[in-house]
Amino acid sequence: MDQLKEMFTEIADKMIESEPRLTEIDDVIGDGDHGIGMKIGFQAVKEVLPRIDAASVNELFKTVGMTMLDAMGGASGVIFGTMFISGFQAVPLAETLSLYQLSRMMKTSLENIKARGKARLGDKTMIDSYEPAVQALVDSAARNAGLPEGLCCASEEALKGAERTKSYGAKKGRAESYGESSIGIPDPGAVSVSIIFSAMYTYVQRQSEKGGER
Ligand code: ADP
Ligand code: MG
Repeated sequence: MDQLKEMFTEIADKMIESEPRLTEIDDVIGDGDHGIGMKIGFQAVKEVLPRIDAASVNELFKTVGMTMLDAMGGASGVIFGTMFISGFQAVPLAETLSLYQLSRMMKTSLENIKARGKARLGDKTMIDSYEPAVQALVDSAARNAGLPEGLCCASEEALKGAERTKSYGAKKGRAESYGESSIGIPDPGAVSVSIIFSAMYTYVQRQSEKGGER
């Protein structure tokens, strides 16, 4: 569980570090608060992590998500909180993170975010990077890939998805009012998803090179 906490600390550091870049993007196509919101959420996660007494991966993910939801508030608090909360019951409680488990948890979260937010691929939201990333996890798990390989594919797909949002006009959320003028700028939420997956991959890859367990 300590390694999983380390992974979340690394994700949090990467997100906090990315605040200026996300703010710059959201200033152009949103209300400018996305970077700050994510920073507040992940600062809260970093604070809480050492005190979390989780017996399972499922619980740790859920607590991280709940912490983000509480700290961030607003639409993105619900969206990014759900990313980690919703998988709780998708799989039996487990003590170590496997690719299969991660894929099942994230798939359930994706479905919940889509059901609530009604965004679909091409609407220029985080779904544009999250959905292909989750699909990559599911596909990799189906061919029995290891966690680093699955996360490698997922983070590549998330990045490609975030890049694709540059060519879309915004339809959902506050960026909606910017419509066509948002073309050329990526969706900030989609960029955040790619940062999260890339941090997960970097951490897990480094651990596997060390020969450590997760
Ligand atoms: P807010 O919209 O409350 O200001 P943020 O600026 O923090 O929240 O987050 C905006 C991000 O939330 C967008 O970049 C987009 O990726 C995501 N988003 C907005 N609406 C939806 C939705 N209905 N479904 C999925 N993601 C959404
Ligand atoms: Mg905003």
